[in-house]
Amino acid sequence: MKKIAVLMILALCVVAFFVFDLASLLTLEQLKASMSRFSQWRDANPILVSAAFFVLYVAVTALSLPGAAVMTLAAGALFGLLWGVILVSFASSLGATLAFLVARYLLGDSVQKKFGDRLKTINDGVTKDGAFYLFTLRLVPIFPFFLINLLMALTPIRSTTFYWVSQVGMLAGTAVFVNAGTQLAKLDSLVGILSPALLLSFVLLGVFPWVAKTVISVIKRKRVYAGYSKPKRFDRNMVVIGAGAGGLVTSYIAAVVGAKVTLVEAHKMGGDCLNTGCVPSKALIKSAKVAKLMRSAENYGLENLSGLENHSAQFSMAKIMARVNEVIKTIEPHDSIERYTNLGVEVIEGYAKIIDPWTVEIARNDGQTQTLTTRSIVLATGAEPVVPPLPGIEEVGYLTSDNLWQTLSSLPTVPKRLVVLGGGPIGCELTQSFARLGSQVTQVEMGDRIMAREDGDVSDFVKARLEADGVTVLTGHKALRCEINGDEKSIIVEHQGQEVRISFDYLLCAVGRKARLTGYGLEDLAIPVDRTITTNEYLETLYPNIFAAGDVAGPYQFTHTASHQAWYAAVNALFGNVKKFKADYRVIPWTTFTEPEVARVGLNEQEAIAAGTDYDVTVYGIDDLDRAIAESEAAGFVKLLTVPGSDKILGVTIVGEHAGELLAEYVLAMKHGLGVNKVFSTIHTYPTWSEANKFVAGQWKQASAPTHLQPWLKKYHAWRRGASNEN
Ligand SMILES: Cc1cc2nc3c(=O)[nH]c(=O)nc-3n(C[C@H](O)[C@H](O)[C@H](O)COP(=O)(O)OP(=O)(O)OC[C@H]3O[C@@H](n4cnc5c(N)ncnc54)[C@H](O)[C@@H]3O)c2cc1C
Repeated sequence: MKKIAVLMILALCVVAFFVFDLASLLTLEQLKASMSRFSQWRDANPILVSAAFFVLYVAVTALSLPGAAVMTLAAGALFGLLWGVILVSFASSLGATLAFLVARYLLGDSVQKKFGDRLKTINDGVTKDGAFYLFTLRLVPIFPFFLINLLMALTPIRSTTFYWVSQVGMLAGTAVFVNAGTQLAKLDSLVGILSPALLLSFVLLGVFPWVAKTVISVIKRKRVYAGYSKPKRFDRNMVVIGAGAGGLVTSYIAAVVGAKVTLVEAHKMGGDCLNTGCVPSKALIKSAKVAKLMRSAENYGLENLSGLENHSAQFSMAKIMARVNEVIKTIEPHDSIERYTNLGVEVIEGYAKIIDPWTVEIARNDGQTQTLTTRSIVLATGAEPVVPPLPGIEEVGYLTSDNLWQTLSSLPTVPKRLVVLGGGPIGCELTQSFARLGSQVTQVEMGDRIMAREDGDVSDFVKARLEADGVTVLTGHKALRCEINGDEKSIIVEHQGQEVRISFDYLLCAVGRKARLTGYGLEDLAIPVDRTITTNEYLETLYPNIFAAGDVAGPYQFTHTASHQAWYAAVNALFGNVKKFKADYRVIPWTTFTEPEVARVGLNEQEAIAAGTDYDVTVYGIDDLDRAIAESEAAGFVKLLTVPGSDKILGVTIVGEHAGELLAEYVLAMKHGLGVNKVFSTIHTYPTWSEANKFVAGQWKQASAPTHLQPWLKKYHAWRRGASNEN
């Protein structure tokens, strides 16, 4: 309501300006004609005339009315150069800021809410360099004054910054016009005031800050190399440290484009994903799922099956792990030294350390030390599990994803009592797997819900499923310490001020993973790190020829994001002197492989709310899906977030069987800007899980159908039936 009132007042002022033909008063001819009258007024009462001029100037510029240029000339003619510049400089800056504030009040919030996600890059740019942009726009008087006010209002620039940069930026142009005004009688038109040479000077002045900024950053970049002597020739184009997803893909790309590349791996080819992460965990999840299916065979009408009578069987951990290890072995050749050597990558097994920005020293596993000079280095050294610093934890012993698989391989049976610390994706996946394999699992999470990155309804859904699998899920429980009494190990957790003791045979820590940041030269080269290695958008570290990719670079910790970054690291390292590419994180999907799976791309509700992004939400319940019903897996939902009034997809969360696979359609849609209408108009095979994607789109379409057309359509059909009086 308030906005409408402001809009009405503005509209009235503008209409009045044109109805009363005030524009004709603000012309050069009119100014010249009235000059002697204005001069008399000024001589009679200089302060009052100055104040009236100031207020009028503010009003004209605040309302974005034409005439500011003529008024600036008038300032010169009436008040002289100095006083004229002072008056106009403050009045124009104030008027511009008022116009900016009104535009922001009327449009800024709604534009940001509606398009905030699409404006992110612009917003980030303005937050970083907004003052520079504005200064350049202000200095070069060819950019319309009112348009700058309006456009800047839609960005997150601070109003104080807007004011002072406008004032400084417009000063030179103001001086030129006021000065021209002092020679008013000689002026025939406004056109000649800005000669091409003067305009060019303004353009040069406008780009000067950018040139200065670039020069400073080039000098700064060069200065980081001070004290190191750059080799004249290099042994390699690139040395890649770490052969996980990030390092493998980087070195592969480098080899494909003909670079001489060496990949160094200290432990196992394939890194965490193959050896201790995605692959073993997904293999274990499958065994656990089969165990669950066996237990629920009766749900599928499979009663009295001989051989399956041992529903409460204690499974052999050794056999389960034999399969897990077999899976790893089968995938291993994809990441093997042989494969990469054949692809043209030199692979060295050993521990690499950066000695200087162009030198890597490798303590080879065969005992030799090898030193390589290289034009670029890519750090893909990954992450490792965080172990919470609990008193007593070393004494009781603990498992992490690093040592879990080896320990399991040596166990005859599934662990009896297991405590899993952590309610994130890895904690939830492993918790459910062990519960399904027969362990008594207690999951301890400090926060008030598990899977906290997802929406509350997702957390609730997964928690209910874990509990249905027999897990004791303790949220809001903070681990305090571990104790050991005789053979009995326990962990003490605190809940609402009370201590709770939980006994266990094994304690599994899944409280997060931290980037590997020490031991390989970052400290010696003073490469800045925070929770990860600090990089710019090109994945360059402090040293522009040293890059980071994967878990060690963050912000994501997924195999597919490591490979995604690898492309940028490789291309920027090898061709950055010609063209550099900013790592693009706009459409990042991920899946938690619990059952049901939780898959997401883009925003969920809690993120949209936090970002102040307006959204419409459409939820399709998978309990309605024919295929899900046929498989007795009718549970979960597809939650679609869209821009209000548009079919643009902001994000999708899918909870259900095969959610990770279903998500791919929406990842593609978001990546290539396809809206919900396109998904809806695509044929999906019946009966498949993927129909859920179409049905949520259909539900969205139904909700967005224009209701005002309905009565007219009814009338039309009634008319077609010849029943003109019917509704
Ligand atoms: C239990 C678990 C389940 C997971 N499940 C999934 C999943 O389902 N999907 C998914 O996308 N992600 C999953 N992840 C995450 C995934 O494993 C990582 O995101 C991925 O491995 C990151 O790859 P990377 O190349 O950055 O690092 P890594 O795979 O950790 O590779 C880094 C390599 O660098 C080597 N290295 C380190 N320092 C040196 C040095 N100085 N010299 C030589 N070599 C060195 C290390 O030995 C290591 O092999 C899971 C992780 C875990 C722990």
